[in-house]
Amino acid sequence: MKYYNSIIETIGNTPLVKLNKVTKGVKGTILAKVEYFNPGNSVKDRIALKMIEDAEKKGLLKPGGTIIEGTSGNTGMGLALAAVSKGYRCIFTMADKQSKEKIDILRAVGAEVVVCPTNVEPEDPRSYYSVAKRLNSEIPNSFYPNQYDNLSNSQAHYETTGPEIWEQTEGKITHYVATVGTGGTMSGTAKYLKERKPDIVTVGIDTYGSVFKKYKETGIFDPNEIYPYLTEGFGEDILPQNVAFDLIDLFIKVTDKDAAIMARRLAREEGLFVGWSCGSAVYGALEYIKQHPLKEDDVMVIILPDHGTRYIAKIYNDLWMKDHGFLEQRSFATAKDIIAKRNGSAR
Ligand code: PMP
Repeated sequence: MKYYNSIIETIGNTPLVKLNKVTKGVKGTILAKVEYFNPGNSVKDRIALKMIEDAEKKGLLKPGGTIIEGTSGNTGMGLALAAVSKGYRCIFTMADKQSKEKIDILRAVGAEVVVCPTNVEPEDPRSYYSVAKRLNSEIPNSFYPNQYDNLSNSQAHYETTGPEIWEQTEGKITHYVATVGTGGTMSGTAKYLKERKPDIVTVGIDTYGSVFKKYKETGIFDPNEIYPYLTEGFGEDILPQNVAFDLIDLFIKVTDKDAAIMARRLAREEGLFVGWSCGSAVYGALEYIKQHPLKEDDVMVIILPDHGTRYIAKIYNDLWMKDHGFLEQRSFATAKDIIAKRNGSAR
């Protein structure tokens, strides 16, 4: 019989899918690593499992323990799945800008969620970072994975994402593109790939409102770079230890709007119903290519971190898009539009 002993054994080994339409006119092969094939529908399942298993080995997490984390949702989902399989309780703190779906999904898999204000400093006692730390100090036998500074995060990608990409591309990869939030996906994978082939170009995708690009270019942590933005899961107002700046060749910033429109194009033109930051990753990758055209035999791999279901009330909703000035006209047809079009073409 062929079966997995529990859902956590299905994490990883996600497919590479060639992009065909949104890359029209571009030389080289552009491949998306589609992380929504993980059981929690995101790249973060990989690090959730690794952080838990490393904590178990170090004796930081004991039977009956509670896992407490500040998460934009995807790490929470991964932790919750692993916690269900292994018998731990989970409490997550989340910023209130996160989609309601993400909160509901975490509650569906048995986690407790504490919603905190988005627009406060990380040091503010109300921030989701601070609340997670406080709960960890108050709840006995609790473990705070701290995905930002816990190097098991990058290590998970060094051990899984990197080798997978290397094998899937038979070592032919020349460019690696990933959004940078905690930095784990970019840094761990980049370390593995650059150890195999040092001239692989690594492009970090940042967002307007985040400090990474400026920091990489100037070495200055500039508070003026920090302002609210809407895309979820990447860009930061802190410098997490998992961001290995020396392994990231350059950063490209992408706006909320360009990312949202590209995510919708990926769904409609490629059949990839993916999350908002996937739009950022692909838009940023194409910007890079505009500035540095690829050669015919170049192979670029872009990480697509999560699934579109978590954003149906946002970027996949025309009214929401219009309200945010991201769409001039409604693009999903009503029954009336369809009938009018049919009548028109029949005439
Ligand atoms: N996009 C989404 C939707 C995410 O949840 C995350 C994880 N925070 C990222 C991008 C960035 O990944 P990383 O934290 O590994 O840098």
